Amino acid sequence: MEFATFADRAAAIEAEPADLEIVDLVRAVLEDADADLEIVARFVQGRVFPAWRSRTLDIGPNSCYEAIARAAGTNVGSDDVEDRLAEVGEIGEVAASYEFGGQQGLGAFTAGNDDSGSAGGAGDELTVREVFETLSELAAAEGSGSQDRKTDLLFGLFNRCSSEEARYLARLVLSEMRIGVGEGAVRDAISEAFDVPVEGVERALQVSNDYGEVARVARDEGLDGLDAMELEVGRPVQAMLAQAGTVTDALEEWEEAAVEWKYDGARIQLHHRPAESDETAPETGVFSRNMEDVTDALPEVVEYADETLEEPVILDGEVVAIDDDGAPLPFQEVLKRFRRKHDVEKVREDVTVRPVFFDCLHAGGDDLLEEPLTTRHDRLRAVLSDSDGPEVNAANIEGLSLLWRTDDPEEIESIDAEALEGGHEGIMLKNPESTYSPGRRGKHWRKRKPDVETLDCVVTGAEWGEGRRATFLGTFELSVRAGDDSEERRSSGSAVNSQTLETVGKVATGITDEKLEELTELLEPYIASEDGQEVDLEPEVVFEVGYEEIQTSPTYSSGYALRFPRFQAVRHDKDPEGADSLERLERLREA
Ligand code: ATP
Repeated sequence: MEFATFADRAAAIEAEPADLEIVDLVRAVLEDADADLEIVARFVQGRVFPAWRSRTLDIGPNSCYEAIARAAGTNVGSDDVEDRLAEVGEIGEVAASYEFGGQQGLGAFTAGNDDSGSAGGAGDELTVREVFETLSELAAAEGSGSQDRKTDLLFGLFNRCSSEEARYLARLVLSEMRIGVGEGAVRDAISEAFDVPVEGVERALQVSNDYGEVARVARDEGLDGLDAMELEVGRPVQAMLAQAGTVTDALEEWEEAAVEWKYDGARIQLHHRPAESDETAPETGVFSRNMEDVTDALPEVVEYADETLEEPVILDGEVVAIDDDGAPLPFQEVLKRFRRKHDVEKVREDVTVRPVFFDCLHAGGDDLLEEPLTTRHDRLRAVLSDSDGPEVNAANIEGLSLLWRTDDPEEIESIDAEALEGGHEGIMLKNPESTYSPGRRGKHWRKRKPDVETLDCVVTGAEWGEGRRATFLGTFELSVRAGDDSEERRSSGSAVNSQTLETVGKVATGITDEKLEELTELLEPYIASEDGQEVDLEPEVVFEVGYEEIQTSPTYSSGYALRFPRFQAVRHDKDPEGADSLERLERLREA
C-alpha cells in the first residue's frame, strides 16, 4: 500500500466522529492492505512494532524536528519547527505545514544510497512497507553516531513525503497518532473484515499482543488459526489488574475468597526457558507491567530463575526490595533498581531485590489462562518447589506468594494484620474460580489497602481471651464522643466519662499476639470492673481504627456500627477529649 493511501485513509478516520463509522473505515483499510496488512493494522493505531516488543524508535523529538526542518528546505531550521509547534501544539499539523521533496543537500544521500535498498529522491511513491523498514532500521541503530544516523534516515522519509503523508509520519514517529482508533475499534474491524467472531479476535490478542499478526491470521487462517494462537515464552502479555474492593463485597459475591498479601513492589512477568543441554544457556526475560523489558536491571530475578526453574514458564509476580534480614522495604527502594540501565551491579550492592510470584500463566507447554486461579496457583507451587522432593510447606518455598482460601472475615482480618505487620501493603482478595484476563481490571481481583479514613476511638471495654490468649485482653470495645465538637466544650474542660461516650463497635481480630501483650499492659491499669471475661475500662486510651463502612445498627448505643474495624495504632498523643465525635462519624458515613 502506498503511504499516501494510508495517509488519506487516516485523515478520513480522523475526520469521522461516529465510532461505528470509524470501525467501518478501519475495516476497509485492513481489507485493502493486502501484503502490508500486519503493518497497516499497527500503523492505524500509531504503533510501528507489536505491543509486546519493548523495541522503540529511540529517537527524541528534537531529531524529528531536525529531520522535518532539513526536508523542508535550506531556509528552515529546527527552531522554526519548534516555533510552529508552540503555536499549533501538534506535530502532525506542523509537519503538514511544510512542502517537502527534492532536498539534495547534506543527508539526502541516505534516502537514495543506503543499504536498505529503498528507492530515494522525491518523485517516486513511498509505501507503508518502506516506511516500516526504514523505521525498523532506525530503531536498530545503536552506538556512536546513531542519533545522526536516525535523523538521516528520517530525513530521507520526510524528503519523499507530501504534506499529508508528513502529518501522519511525524505522528507515527513521535507516538502521537491520535486519529481516534482505539484497540476495540481495530478488534471489531478485524472481526468484520475477515468474518471471524470478535471473541476469537479478543482471545488471540490477549495471548499475542500483536494486532498485526492477529489480523493476518484472521484473514489467512480464519477462526481455527486464531484459536491455535498460544502464549509464547519470551513474548510478554498484559497483566491482569485489580479493582479496589472490600471484604464484605468479596465474601458476598464469591463463596470464599483467595487471600494473598499485597507486596509493595513493582509488577514483573517472568519468562524462562531452561537450558536444553549443557551447551546451551537458559533464556530469561523479565517484563514490567507495561511489557517493557527490564531483565538487565534485575539480575537477582534472572539468577533465581536459573537456579529454580526446570521447565519453560511464564510467571506473574512482584519484585520487592528487601533489607539484610529479608524484610520488605518501601516501594521507593525498588524504584532505585527497576528499569535501571547503568551501574546495575553497583546499585545492587545498596538495594537488594527479590521476586515473589503469585500466578502462573504457562508451564511446561500448557497455557493456563483459562484455568481457575487455584489450579494456576497449585501449578505455580509445583513449578517453584522441587517437585521430586518431599511434600514441602508452602511457606518455605522461596519466591512463592502464600494463598489462603477462606470465607471467614475474621481469618481475613488476621491475614491482613499479619501482612501489615510484615511490612506489606495489605491484602489482595481474589475469586478462586476466576480465569486470568490479561489487561483487565475486573472484579475478580480486589485490592484492599490500609484504610484512607480512620477514626480515633476511646477504648471503653475489652474481653479476656481464651486458650493461649487467656492472659491477654482482646475484643476491644470502641466508643466515640457523644457531644459536639464545639470549642466551648473543649475549653470548658468537661471531662469525658462513660455517659458522654457512645459505643460504635468492637475490634477483635487482626492484632498479633505480640501487640495484644503490649495492649494488655497498657490497658490493665484502667480496668474499672470485671464480669467473667468481660471488662469495663476507664475511658483513657485512644485507638486509631480503620474500617470498611459505617452502618446503622441497633447493637451499639450510637446507633451505628463500624464494619470490619481494624486496629491501626494506639494514639498515645491523644486523650479521650481528643477522640472523634459521633458528629464526625455521621459526616464520614455521608461522605
Ligand atoms: P493500579 O493498578 O490501580 O494502577 P497500582 O499499580 O498502584 O495501581 P494497585 O492497583 O494498587 O497497583 O494494586 C495492584 C498491584 O498490586 C498489582 O499490579 C501488583 O503489582 C501488586 N501486587 C502485590 N501483591 C499482589 C498479589 N498478591 N496479587 C496481585 N497483585 C499484587
